[in-house]
Amino acid sequence: MIHFPQLVALGYLATAILFIFGIRLLGSPATARRGNWLAAVGMLIALLVTFVGLGALPWAAVIPALVVGAVLGTAAARMVRMTAMPQMVALFNGMGGGAAALIGADEFIHRTGELASGVATLSPGSSVPIVIGCLIGSVSFSGSLIAFSKLQGLMRGTPVTFPYQRAANGALLAVIVALGVVIVAVHASIWLFLAYELLALGFGVAFVLPVGGADMPVIISLLNSFTGLAAAVSGFVLDNEVLIVAGALVGASGTILTQLMSRAMNRSLANVLFSAFGSQVEAAGEAGEAGDRSVHSVTPEDVAILLGYARQVVFVPGYGMAVAKAQHEVKELATQLERRGVEVKYAIHPVAGRMPGHMNVLLAEADVPYTQLREMADINPEFPRTDVAVVIGANDVTNPAARSNPSSPIYGMPILNVDQAEHVVVLKRSMNPGFAGIENQLYYDPRTLMLFGDARESVVRLLAALKELVPAA
Ligand code: NDP
Repeated sequence: MIHFPQLVALGYLATAILFIFGIRLLGSPATARRGNWLAAVGMLIALLVTFVGLGALPWAAVIPALVVGAVLGTAAARMVRMTAMPQMVALFNGMGGGAAALIGADEFIHRTGELASGVATLSPGSSVPIVIGCLIGSVSFSGSLIAFSKLQGLMRGTPVTFPYQRAANGALLAVIVALGVVIVAVHASIWLFLAYELLALGFGVAFVLPVGGADMPVIISLLNSFTGLAAAVSGFVLDNEVLIVAGALVGASGTILTQLMSRAMNRSLANVLFSAFGSQVEAAGEAGEAGDRSVHSVTPEDVAILLGYARQVVFVPGYGMAVAKAQHEVKELATQLERRGVEVKYAIHPVAGRMPGHMNVLLAEADVPYTQLREMADINPEFPRTDVAVVIGANDVTNPAARSNPSSPIYGMPILNVDQAEHVVVLKRSMNPGFAGIENQLYYDPRTLMLFGDARESVVRLLAALKELVPAA
């Protein structure tokens, strides 16, 4: 017969396996959905086993909490727009960090005995993880809320900077660490702990304020790894193995993702954290005005002729495609072209859009076959033999300044070499810059044709014009 402790151990083992395989499957767009389901089932098992096996809380409290959480989570996931996904992740991540900090605070209060007594002793074995978990969880909580506010437009998205900011932040962190040492080694007072928590929350705010709104996805990924770490530490505090495993997985994957994103933008994490990117690049954008150079503006009918008689067309989606929600129309355009015998591929830049995998998710939603999606390294050698590269709301990821202009803020960032195609068609609304705030030389290239307008409307008009063409021979 299986006893409760064995049931709990078995349930946790199953959960850990499901989490690991879930993350593994998330590595490819073709299996990501299944991976998500596996991890969700793992989480359900962990919750049930914890509540049933450990008898931690009365069911009257557990069931309403599960129902409220499930309803809120489902509603948020269904209602949120793809372009608002980074802020939803920030909010949920902040909740995770806050929960880890609360677990630590609860344990501290519990273990130091009566709150009213104010002072008590605590072994370093238990106080060290509590103090570390509370610091990381609190920073993740308040930092994520600032990230959410910037992305949601509740506060200014540009970097908030002031003189000696780095020194001030460094000093704040030093005070927090010193206070943590005092709490662990000298005086485990509730009041000191409260001050420590408040300062940690303040540090989370100070840490994220100087980062520009559009760099937020990288910060969110970093804060995500903090939350994982805080959860793993909470696992040590509560002696709960599954929390340690889940926290370590989140911490490690968040760290790897942060590194990948920084590398794909050719920026160090320190540069993302401390360079106040948005404010500098606004100035760079202003400095690089277009002057009297002209661009070649075309109609959908012109582009339809170019596409309809091409051999190979490469679509290059970017943030503007997400804003315009044009992915279904783009897929339809690809289908029409294929019917005319045109070979169609999609070039996916690792930081196109505003979150990792943004383009993959949008195109998967429109049922674009995975086999047509090409990573940057695979598609770049193909541009010289591409008849038309169609840039749909992408900008920075196609900017040749990244290759040729050492003074450009994006110099060194690997880009999609669309300028090597025979023709380039750019779908965007105006000459406004993209996220990096700099002008794009590509638009002044004699081979580039600008189709101005909302990407979705432009593709719809293109489709109509394509249908008017005589069938290709
Ligand atoms: P960009 O932000 O460089 O450019 C997007 C372009 O889309 C703009 O120039 C805009 O021009 C156009 N656009 C906006 N709305 C529409 C619309 N409705 N219809 C047509 N066009 C539209 O996007 P990219 O994808 O090229 O590059 C992503 C940038 O974001 C990179 O600099 C990357 O470093 C950064 N980044 C990416 C992250 C990620 O994880 N993916 C995370 C953090 C930053 P206009 O207004 O004229 O229409």
